[in-house]
Amino acid sequence: MQETLSFDDVLLTPQKSDIVSRSEVDLTSAIGKYNFSLPVISSPMDTVTETSMALTIGELGGLGILHRYCSIEEQAAMMTPFISAAAIGVSSDYKERLEALKERGLKIVCVDVAHGHHSMMESCLKYIKDKYGDEISIIAGNVATPEGYKDLSDWGADAVRIGIGGGSICSTRIQTGHGVPTFHSVLCCKYVDADAKIIADGGIKTAGDAVKAIAAGADFVMLGSMLAGTDESPGEVFTSTDDKKYKVYRGMASVEAQVAWRGEARSLEGVSTTIPYKGSVVTALESLKQNIRSGLSYSGARSISEFQAKAHFIRQTSASIVESGTHILNAR
Ligand code: IMP
Repeated sequence: MQETLSFDDVLLTPQKSDIVSRSEVDLTSAIGKYNFSLPVISSPMDTVTETSMALTIGELGGLGILHRYCSIEEQAAMMTPFISAAAIGVSSDYKERLEALKERGLKIVCVDVAHGHHSMMESCLKYIKDKYGDEISIIAGNVATPEGYKDLSDWGADAVRIGIGGGSICSTRIQTGHGVPTFHSVLCCKYVDADAKIIADGGIKTAGDAVKAIAAGADFVMLGSMLAGTDESPGEVFTSTDDKKYKVYRGMASVEAQVAWRGEARSLEGVSTTIPYKGSVVTALESLKQNIRSGLSYSGARSISEFQAKAHFIRQTSASIVESGTHILNAR
């Protein structure tokens, strides 16, 4: 049986560097014909990305994908001329939804399903390629295996979301027994002969995890929990009995999310929770950008491709995992 690795199982070893300032590090990455100066994508979830998040992350050089858990009219109304990406599914109204989004200026579509290595994904990607050609770039997923990544790439995806079961709000592995640690999936997909860019999605909880994902082969990281709980994420801030401020963050397959968007809960593969209110996402993203740049400079790399060529991983023991944390805080 194959052994797998998660973000916390590994560390990158520092390497000789001549980078004097973090500003020398270029984080540019691309999807189709579009370049991004920050390789970060906000997840198409109803507590993460609507207009405000998509606009703000776009202004900072990343990409926000409008979620699809609403009517076609509501999603189309979230589109503005600054916003370029939105999600669709693979069944029922997806053709109509795509056309409505296209009329509102869609440039990048995200075909967003829980199990993306599927014949319905194949039909959907073929439909988009036949109808729109290179007018629309395609992100598709999620998949967890090299075979899934290769197929979605061959079916026309410009970028593939890699990761099943690792999301902070995800219960897929508990409920279905299926999944692969996101870090392991990314590492396996890196060596596949396929053109699509790799988006590491699910379980990235720190800037360090984002750096490890990129070193392992990801061209972008997709974030849910790290961007939720901000001013720009949908939903109200509320004060709890502990006098602290919170916002809701929920999986799209949680009871709460399913009831809100389709009136009933079917297969449950997610949870809903509250997370501490973080203020503006600008602060979170600026600091993430600086940390990712620092990450590359520790390996002596000025670009993502140089980083991926140079990166050297080591395994951590359980004692090392403890040492890697701010362990004085645990001693209190
Ligand atoms: P996070 O960044 O660890 O919070 O994970 C976010 C990712 O979890 C999303 O980008 C999706 O791929 C995934 N996800 C969102 N909702 C659900 C769910 O209800 N069940 C399983 N995975 C989910």
